[in-house]
Amino acid sequence: MSDFDNIAIEEALKSSLGRTAIFRRYDRENKTPMNFVLDEVQRQIGPGFGVYWVDGGHPEVFCLPGFSPIPVVFSTRYLSLTAFVRRLFVEESLKGVLPDVAERTALKVIAELSLRHGDPDVAVLALVKSITGKGIWISDDDQLMALEHEPIHENYMATWFYGLLHELGHLHPAQNSAFGEKHAFSDARILAAIAASLDRFPAYPDGMKRAAIEQARQSQENSILRIDHLRTEGLADMFAASVLFKSTFEIMKRVNQKQFEVIRYVQEIVVFSNIIAVIDRCRRTAALATLTGGTRAAAFESALHPVSMMVRGMMLREYLDRAVAEYLYSKPTTRQFEDVEQLIDKINGSFSETVDTIDSGVARAMAFSLFPEHRTNGLAALDAFRIELAESPLGGAEARRFCELADSLSISGKLLTALKGILS
Ligand SMILES: [Zn+2]
Repeated sequence: MSDFDNIAIEEALKSSLGRTAIFRRYDRENKTPMNFVLDEVQRQIGPGFGVYWVDGGHPEVFCLPGFSPIPVVFSTRYLSLTAFVRRLFVEESLKGVLPDVAERTALKVIAELSLRHGDPDVAVLALVKSITGKGIWISDDDQLMALEHEPIHENYMATWFYGLLHELGHLHPAQNSAFGEKHAFSDARILAAIAASLDRFPAYPDGMKRAAIEQARQSQENSILRIDHLRTEGLADMFAASVLFKSTFEIMKRVNQKQFEVIRYVQEIVVFSNIIAVIDRCRRTAALATLTGGTRAAAFESALHPVSMMVRGMMLREYLDRAVAEYLYSKPTTRQFEDVEQLIDKINGSFSETVDTIDSGVARAMAFSLFPEHRTNGLAALDAFRIELAESPLGGAEARRFCELADSLSISGKLLTALKGILS
């Protein structure tokens, strides 16, 4: 790569991450689990990507297309936040408080992502709503040290790499290929999956379902159900799951601390595909939400997101069933294949209540962000926060970190100034 390319990439990264962001190209020479995984990625998609490590930043992993090699940005904020969200899915002790914790977490993610993709005033409202009246303080802060020292097993590998691998999956050459009609990723099969998923939402009016299917076919629409959008995401999910399967199995054999367990791997895939969905949902909400908002597009979006997740879930299952059956039986019989399907159904079932609870928390956070009638007046909300602040140093600390993120992105706004006034 020439110096010119380097400078161009650095400038693009600075404009996207903020002038004060600390980032570096990830050194591919060191023998680390990340390089072990990236070696496998390179075998599958070639060398046309470079991973950039960002300390802090927004909670996202993303590519900057248009450069060669394509920069893929991995932020420690994304890592800490997804590790935190994982706790919501797996920790028994959080069950009782899950609806509240899930809603507040989603509001905070929407707040942080609105600074990059959306309206800074909505960002402040979401942030303040996520902290005001909060009774349980579980830190979603930098967990890097703790995460680095976890033993290397299924959880470690998924926490560190699922999101990064999903993003790299967007660069897979299969993303540009045409799929024959019978293929699981053909237009016809995806459309059938959309229709089947919509059928599972009996409360949705027929007119809305027809409009959703119509939009799914239109490549210029920004619908969450657009066929080529679902195909792209489905392929990226499948790539993440497959590279994670291979590299987790192999690295655990080498490190030899614990035996690879396929059930634990499937559990992590179920959890992380849901985590990616939560973050996606928050990102799209951030991009749609405005102070006066409440548009038809926003209403459509919030109703159709669960449908899109169901379709993506179906696509990922095609891969998982086959991969697990082949791992366990090498050449599985029909009976063995059905056993595997049942096993994975059972694992999915074990998470379904938690997934539903988290989903409804996320849905409430979306409604708050998308529809003004779900919000009290912005200044009144800030006032409530100000009154509470005297007794809540933790809330102040969270709000200050949020303002620092806004500053690093050179973002200003009326409510942001008001929030800073309260904190000073
Ligand atoms: Zn994606």
